[in-house]
Amino acid sequence: MLKLYFNRLVITLFCFVSLFFISSAQAEQVVVYSARIEQLIKPMFDAFTRDTGIKVRYTTDKEGALLARLKAEGKHTPADMLITADAGNLWQASNLGLLKPVTSEILSTNIPEHLRDPGNTWFGLSIRARTLVYNTNKLKPADLLSYEDLAQPKWKNHLCLRTSKKVYNQSLVAMMIAEHGEAETEKIVRGWVANLATDPLSDDTRAMEFVAAGRCDVTVVNTYYYGRLMKKNPSLPLAVFWPNQESSGVHVNISGAGITRHSNNEPAAIKLLEYLSSAKAQNLFADVNMEYPVNPAIAPDANVAAWGSFKQNPMNLAKAGELQAAAVKLMDRAGYR
Ligand code: FE
Repeated sequence: MLKLYFNRLVITLFCFVSLFFISSAQAEQVVVYSARIEQLIKPMFDAFTRDTGIKVRYTTDKEGALLARLKAEGKHTPADMLITADAGNLWQASNLGLLKPVTSEILSTNIPEHLRDPGNTWFGLSIRARTLVYNTNKLKPADLLSYEDLAQPKWKNHLCLRTSKKVYNQSLVAMMIAEHGEAETEKIVRGWVANLATDPLSDDTRAMEFVAAGRCDVTVVNTYYYGRLMKKNPSLPLAVFWPNQESSGVHVNISGAGITRHSNNEPAAIKLLEYLSSAKAQNLFADVNMEYPVNPAIAPDANVAAWGSFKQNPMNLAKAGELQAAAVKLMDRAGYR
């Protein structure tokens, strides 16, 4: 009899202990869907695991595929966090109901207000500045002024632009609509189109190669593409110009993240998000792609800092999402392909 009780006790204890281990093993892992490629996220995840003991499992894919997957998986998704580039994409994910609001003192302190969702579903983790790059043999900084100025007739046949199909340009135009209204923005975009020296180009790097080759004088690109190109070929006659310093500031965008609506491991996921915004991870997150830390307390990489400091547009990036559809239609009307 006593032996039977003892056996039952052992079995019960065994069940409790294994339940404890199973649940704590589940708690000690965060699953991330990332549109940022492995080499841009793995270093931070490894540092986070070293510091907290919490493992990070991740899947990388294009943002469209990840959003479709989150939607299809619904409440059965294994994902706790979505990481992607561009506020327009994060806004879309939030608008589809795929992200949940998070209240965190740490996130509000580390991330400036204009670089996170007013509804707290997504948070910027690095800044990407979309600025002007010009041919130094053809122009001086004093020749340049603003995005809007590139619509002036004096730039006819001197401008190169990347295609309007890229979300980066859609976000830029959406933020211009937020600032100037549709009618004024359409005039500006029509001016750009009238000034193009070539058909819109497939990517930022190609646009800068055209500028360097003298096919046009100036273009609009994200600075990390400039950084990569100049690293490969430092002798190119190209330089960065910070536009709109007397007005709205440089158009910035973000890489960022949000917690999935159906995350079943929210506390660990928030811990990871907070970690990514902290001093420990900010340089890892930004420097690997020559972006800027979102946390104003952290200095950018020396190579990035060498391009100079600039005033950024302080308008909330949610506008890039809200006005994205309007921007796409406007660019189409204006003949920007
Ligand atoms: Fe990019």
